[in-house]
Amino acid sequence: MTDAYTLPDLPYDYDALEPLISAQVMRLHHDKHHAAYVKGANEALEKIAEARSATDFSHIGQLEKNLAFNLSGHVLHSLFWQCLSPEGGGRPGGRLGGRITDDFGSLDQLIAQLSAVTTSLQGSGWGALVWEPVAGRLIVQQIYDHQTNVGQGSSPLLVIDGWEHAYYLDHFNDKQAWLAAFWKLVDWSGAERRFDQLSPRSSAAA
Ligand code: MN
Repeated sequence: MTDAYTLPDLPYDYDALEPLISAQVMRLHHDKHHAAYVKGANEALEKIAEARSATDFSHIGQLEKNLAFNLSGHVLHSLFWQCLSPEGGGRPGGRLGGRITDDFGSLDQLIAQLSAVTTSLQGSGWGALVWEPVAGRLIVQQIYDHQTNVGQGSSPLLVIDGWEHAYYLDHFNDKQAWLAAFWKLVDWSGAERRFDQLSPRSSAAA
């Protein structure tokens, strides 16, 4: 069977984000952790197909959990690499910049909320700026593991990896230092593009 999911290349060299994120962390994070989620998602899909063929659903609950965890890990990491850039650290422009002011008061208030959401995780998870299509607005979500605590239907625009593997070798237990590094490297341009694709243009004029 052809794999449904494949590991994307990083959009920059492993050492491009040094010294804020070391090449060693990028290598481990991309080549080992992200790769494991891709492999796990493919394996879960294959085992679910085998269960269907055999009409043996005795382990379907665990297989669905494995699929949700690994697929979400793949989606979030693929997006996370795009949220970082050696030329990062600027401010969001365009429609997204205006919308952040509308929905959060200011960029500084959004950054404060997203940072607090990420540093206050009890265990492993993510901070995420998401487009919530039911109300038609931006919200922040605190995601546990890769898939828990998510409002259905929302789409991530900007994500911060709060798992220890993302920062421990560079910043030890200092999560504030990790967040400071992230905001120095953040690349808003991808989030601007995703927002433009997801949000109806009429809602941006308000
Ligand atoms: Mn990670």
